[in-house]
Amino acid sequence: MKEIRIDDINNDIVIFAKDRSRRPMDKVIKGNEECIIKEYNKSCPFCRGNEYYTLESKFKIENEKGWIVRSIDNKFPIVDNLQDNIYGNHEVMIDTYRHNGSFYNMTEEEFYNMLLMYKDRYSNLIKNKKVQYVSIFKNYLREAGASLNHPHSQIVSLSIMPPDIEREIYISKQYYIKNNRYLYDDIINEEINTKKRVINNSENFLTIVPKTTKYTGEIRILFKKNIKFEHIRNKDIRELSSIFKRLFSNLFEINGDIPFNIFIHSHPKDIELEYFNVHIHIIPRMYRFGGFELSTGIYVSSIEPKDLADKIKF
Ligand SMILES: [Zn+2]
Ligand SMILES: [Zn+2]
Repeated sequence: MKEIRIDDINNDIVIFAKDRSRRPMDKVIKGNEECIIKEYNKSCPFCRGNEYYTLESKFKIENEKGWIVRSIDNKFPIVDNLQDNIYGNHEVMIDTYRHNGSFYNMTEEEFYNMLLMYKDRYSNLIKNKKVQYVSIFKNYLREAGASLNHPHSQIVSLSIMPPDIEREIYISKQYYIKNNRYLYDDIINEEINTKKRVINNSENFLTIVPKTTKYTGEIRILFKKNIKFEHIRNKDIRELSSIFKRLFSNLFEINGDIPFNIFIHSHPKDIELEYFNVHIHIIPRMYRFGGFELSTGIYVSSIEPKDLADKIKF
């Protein structure tokens, strides 16, 4: 049985082919347990105590022992402020001072401080007159694009609109014009009512395995309210930290130390968009695209979202 499915928020096309999950496949490596990583590494530029390697902090939170999180300019930026046609800032946000920290072992408090930093840097960069969009993302492990091991996220402000955001906004606008209802409200209500794909439903966030996604294993955290990322309250950040903690603990139980990407899709600058909600894409990098996907832009999935949600829910 084959089925064609469309992702509600970006119109990606996925062929669902359940029987393909039975094809033989090599085991995913669950991390290298032989290599014991310590809290401090003397050659790591992001470790606490090695600040001389990097540029000065744009933001930091400290305790009695020193900084816990800090954000610095990326020494090798994707964009810079030297030209006007592609202008932006690129910062590295160090998630925790612990070299051996990771989303799989960070405490709720560590996530809280990290998210406070996300909010501060985002609010700061989006204010720049030339900036249209600010992207927050994280690459975990080399297979997901990370070049350094020390846990870090990145933030890039851009003078141009990323096409993926433009597409999501266009789709949510068209949905509103056609139905006179908000797409994200409808998705949230449908997911809560059917319950099938819900991982967690808290006061302000809904965590789901989307009905359709081109990335097998993707998880989405949807903001229930239509607020901009820079307006998230500290109370909501607490709630989100608790979700991150439980979500990544469960993912570790199931998959081990696998690579992933995370990115936040937020509102572009100065556009009041009542039909678009901030959301977070979490993409485990267990499956790679093959020639079919690269040549057609059509994706193939064989894992039923409900089965995955059942394993992760909390
Ligand atoms: Zn380090
Ligand atoms: Zn999105």
